[in-house]
Amino acid sequence: MLIRRSTRPAYARVQPRYPRFTAEAADPSGATPAPEREPSPLEPATLDATRQAEARRYARQRQTLSLISLCLTAALVTIFLFTGLNFWLRDALAFVPAWSPAWGWQPARIGAYALALLLISIVLSLPLDYYSGYILPRRYGLSTQTPAAWARDELKGTALSLVFEIVAVVAVYALLAVSPGLWWLWAGLGMLVFTVLLANLAPILLLPLFYKLTPLPDNDVKRRALALAERARTRVRGIYAMKMSEKTTAANAMVIGLGNTRRIVIGDTLLDHYTPDEIEVVVAHELGHQVHRDIPKLIGMQTIATLGGLFIASLALDAILSADSRYFGLADPATLPLLAVALGIFGLVTMPLVNGVSRWIEAQADIYALETTGKTDAFISAMTRLANQNLAELEPAPWIEFLLYNHPSIGKRLAMGQEYAAKQAAGAAARP
Ligand SMILES: [Zn+2]
Repeated sequence: MLIRRSTRPAYARVQPRYPRFTAEAADPSGATPAPEREPSPLEPATLDATRQAEARRYARQRQTLSLISLCLTAALVTIFLFTGLNFWLRDALAFVPAWSPAWGWQPARIGAYALALLLISIVLSLPLDYYSGYILPRRYGLSTQTPAAWARDELKGTALSLVFEIVAVVAVYALLAVSPGLWWLWAGLGMLVFTVLLANLAPILLLPLFYKLTPLPDNDVKRRALALAERARTRVRGIYAMKMSEKTTAANAMVIGLGNTRRIVIGDTLLDHYTPDEIEVVVAHELGHQVHRDIPKLIGMQTIATLGGLFIASLALDAILSADSRYFGLADPATLPLLAVALGIFGLVTMPLVNGVSRWIEAQADIYALETTGKTDAFISAMTRLANQNLAELEPAPWIEFLLYNHPSIGKRLAMGQEYAAKQAAGAAARP
């Protein structure tokens, strides 16, 4: 990714809105190539002070909304656990067949429990989701969607998340029933397999559900991207334009997929508003992630974090179950809220660490882009355009950046580009 996704809190439901991983196979047959774009003369990039003031206001509002959403989640969970609602829900679902293929694992009951819990949380968070996901971006001119189009996307994303989450819960409860001591290890390894599979398949299965993708025509941008890919010794299976303008005015680009599904995807919002040099630097940044093997690195990091979270959750579950006789065992559906809370707290506590690693990875990709293209001016002007276009706050408060940013702030990236330019100039002056 080139820039951070619209801030959805990490604890919120996962939606493949701007997926980090996506896939492709061969070019989808019948796809019509995007029309050749006439390079339009672009204004030189200068930082827009009005947009920056708006960006600061927008950031404050989003952060406040995230905090409200976090507090609501915490309140809901507290009510659920401390009033015994988790047992009430279990007993209310007693009409679901208790069919148990192994060791007290009741897939139908745990599936129904997970569905009920997820639906409650979806319904309760809907007003806030609508406000932060649609009203606010619309107010700042970032969203180009109609309410109906937004709702369709939301429905698709929610349905997908529901299916993934319920399958995951039912599988984890099989492990809880069969291997009470080591379930967390098997669950973590299962997550790893699933993540690799999803990273591979998302570009073919998920991304096209949300965006129209068309192969880039043989133009200057495509030739430059292919030359960069060759230099990076990265085999890409196609370069695609993604019709982001149907949903947003913000620009982005990504290299997605693993192995034979790897492809470069560039938003039409980027293709239309940036110079070929600027697009080249952006594509070089994306290829930097490939050269540095960042996707396997991130998957590895995520697996370690997941294993840590699951292990701590297993300790917490053991402690609570030995003290509370209302649970009939680890595989009791009523333990699901406990498990969710333990994993949620672990995710929140480790978020700054995960974001810190991500910022470091992103800075390395920027350095790669500068070194391979040598186009420092294009890098600086691309970052300036991004700050204006995406309403990215140039200099967020350091603690906000530390906690929430998975990319360095644009201010830091601009400073890095300027530093690199100064070094370049000094190097050129030193040469005879
Ligand atoms: Zn990146």
